[in-house]
Amino acid sequence: MEWNKSASLLLEKVPPFVQKTVREKVETLARERGKTLVTEAEVMAARDSFMNKTPPITAAPHAFGKKSVDNKKLSILKKYPKYFDNDGNPVLYQIKTCRGAEVNCPFLIADSNVLADKIRNRLEELKFTEKLMNKIEGQILPHHSMKLAVSGCPNSCSMPQIKDFGVHAIEPVLVDPASECIECMKCVETCREDAITVQGGHVTIDMEKCVHCGLCAKVCPSGSIKTGKKKYRVMIGGKVGRHPKFAIEILPQADESTTLKALDVCVEMILSSKTEHRFRALLEQQGIEEIKKRI
Ligand code: SF4
Ligand code: SF4
Ligand code: SF4
Repeated sequence: MEWNKSASLLLEKVPPFVQKTVREKVETLARERGKTLVTEAEVMAARDSFMNKTPPITAAPHAFGKKSVDNKKLSILKKYPKYFDNDGNPVLYQIKTCRGAEVNCPFLIADSNVLADKIRNRLEELKFTEKLMNKIEGQILPHHSMKLAVSGCPNSCSMPQIKDFGVHAIEPVLVDPASECIECMKCVETCREDAITVQGGHVTIDMEKCVHCGLCAKVCPSGSIKTGKKKYRVMIGGKVGRHPKFAIEILPQADESTTLKALDVCVEMILSSKTEHRFRALLEQQGIEEIKKRI
């Protein structure tokens, strides 16, 4: 994320050993407020938030403007600052991202914040919070909020497998028969899934085992293993709690627009459901194949 000059000067005043952490926190908070540029205002707001001078800045631009919301409906949720934006408006979704891009993670395939920003914008466009609030008749509870996560690689540090809507980036690999394998075995040594076999210059990848981390292609000196376009693996319906469930994969290799289409379908399902059941229960009622057909 870009910083303007005055924001950068403020950061320089922070002791060097905490600058990296402060930068990350300011950028996270700025992003959650829907900003793409860090200005002095974002730095000061983040500082105030850390010092508890103002309510924490934890959410995206809200869909309500200054309109007051039903306080009674929100009385339980108000115990949890993370469900409110800086103006005190409710935000009924949380998007967790990994820190791959911020820490120059060696496994990084795609910056999770880029897709997370697009997901956030889409949820705002769809007026998700407002519509969900209108749908829920009684008290709004933490489990009504939609949980999402995006990770920059299959290591999935933001835990998309236990979210309602989870995504991680992948780098699909393929063997290029036109390139001559020199049998250096670097790919075999690199693959943690034991998915690669090299015999007599012939390379095979077991796609049942491969998670498309792209690491073998990075170490291959001959170009025998190549990567295709970066994609996303999309899974839905994960949850923790009394009966935890892992999310179910619905798109093994989706481009960005198909990923956002899948989000639309899930949102539509949540908002149109007559019940207030958790998303996983809705999935089990409707069947995963039905959802896949609608994407
Ligand atoms: S998910 Fe991957 S890219 Fe993100 S921090 Fe973890 S290992 Fe790094
Ligand atoms: S992409 Fe990753 S998991 Fe797949 S074969 Fe290469 S190193 Fe193994
Ligand atoms: S790293 Fe490339 S050249 Fe080396 S064994 Fe694997 S496929 Fe062959």
